[in-house]
Amino acid sequence: MAPDTAPDTVFDIAIVGAGPTGASLALAVAQTGFRVLLIDGRDPDQVRADGRNFAIVRGSWRLLEGCGVTEGLVAEAEPLNGLEATDGGTHWFGAPSALFTAEDLPEDEAGVPLGYMIEAPRLQGALDAKLADERLIDWQRKAAFTGFERAAGHVAVSLGDGRVFRARLIVGCDGVNSPVRQAAGIAVEGRDYGKSVFAANVSLSRPHGGIARQLFTPEGPFATLPLRGDRANLAWYMKTGAAETLAGLGQEEIEAELNSRFAEFAGEMRLEGKAISYPLELKIADEMVAARVALVGDAARRINPLAGQGLNLGFKDVAALVEVLEDGRHAGLDIGALNVLDPYQQWRRFDANATALGLDAVDRLFSNDRAVLKPLRGAGLMLADKLPFLRRRLARQASAQQSHLPKRMQPARR
Ligand SMILES: Cc1cc2nc3c(=O)[nH]c(=O)nc-3n(C[C@H](O)[C@H](O)[C@H](O)COP(=O)(O)OP(=O)(O)OC[C@H]3O[C@@H](n4cnc5c(N)ncnc54)[C@H](O)[C@@H]3O)c2cc1C
Repeated sequence: MAPDTAPDTVFDIAIVGAGPTGASLALAVAQTGFRVLLIDGRDPDQVRADGRNFAIVRGSWRLLEGCGVTEGLVAEAEPLNGLEATDGGTHWFGAPSALFTAEDLPEDEAGVPLGYMIEAPRLQGALDAKLADERLIDWQRKAAFTGFERAAGHVAVSLGDGRVFRARLIVGCDGVNSPVRQAAGIAVEGRDYGKSVFAANVSLSRPHGGIARQLFTPEGPFATLPLRGDRANLAWYMKTGAAETLAGLGQEEIEAELNSRFAEFAGEMRLEGKAISYPLELKIADEMVAARVALVGDAARRINPLAGQGLNLGFKDVAALVEVLEDGRHAGLDIGALNVLDPYQQWRRFDANATALGLDAVDRLFSNDRAVLKPLRGAGLMLADKLPFLRRRLARQASAQQSHLPKRMQPARR
């Protein structure tokens, strides 16, 4: 549908980036009546090779449901029935493990899976299709954001082709290197893990039962994430260089390497399509807001993908920001003003940073074979497996079921 945009329009919100967070934010705010300018460098007609598959947890799925994108996706997604973590280090008492299932979550949603596994291009395709239909979104495709300037009551947003648009608020959903964050002068902190993740889709010789399984080895974790059919997405964390080298080998060599190491854990694996490697880094923005600016998703923080939480944190940002902006509008306030945006930062920063740093600690604890840490992590997994209250707590955290969830992520009231 063609957007209804006059040349002197002042948009309510300019969103830079139409990846999963930018696209869902654009849909959610447009559906509540905000007029949106969406700027993205991608060509949505070109599907890029992407070995990522997202574990979309319950709360995030509800947000997507509200945006109207899950109807077609359900048939392509694999329900996630459980998460299993196994310590593959050497212990005299064997390999401790913990299994979390939907039974560890509140009973009022019996039969609802922990979440869904979905291939990244399919999720993006569903979001793009919905964006193209939304009348209140002016979607500038294949367009580069180059900077913004603050003016009275708005920001002037510049594109690479020389055009300038005006909006009351600019939101950076523009990924880990966020040009919006840089233009706003917001600093980042973090570290380079010196590791990359090798990602590939495989068919398995054994049924996976919808269970995502993670084996912690001294060199780093190896995960099989269930996909439709007896297929899985692999994520194997290694030193930078090793993952890139492995991804560059031929199919037979990759399969030989995978099967010699992990066939006992996962079953025989056959590669489907291309393997890709992604470098890992921890990057946390010092602020999530500034005057007329908000950051969402990887623009606000890039975390270790170990527990598949990065995008889920981004979706929580989306749901929280929409709610805060609606409240601001309801109170008759300027949605670009800091006093409107501050509650968004207060709501999201602690939760997201705690998750980022928690995963950092898990990475340090499990990715080595140091004698002093081994009993600690073995005991941790055994406790998580044996103590129902601890399992429930961890499962709620992982599937976005805790309190203070934004409304769009909460279960429907009966
Ligand atoms: C191997 C791997 C597995 C993962 N698995 C999971 C998982 O299971 N679950 C999970 O929750 N998370 C997972 N993550 C994390 C997840 O990939 C990210 O958190 C998520 O993609 C971030 O989305 P985003 O929309 O914030 O940013 P991005 O997806 O990076 O999108 C940014 C967008 O901004 C656009 N852009 C950038 N600069 C400009 C500019 N100057 N002008 C115009 N447009 C611009 C880009 O074109 C792009 O479309 C994984 C990550 C990796 C590496």
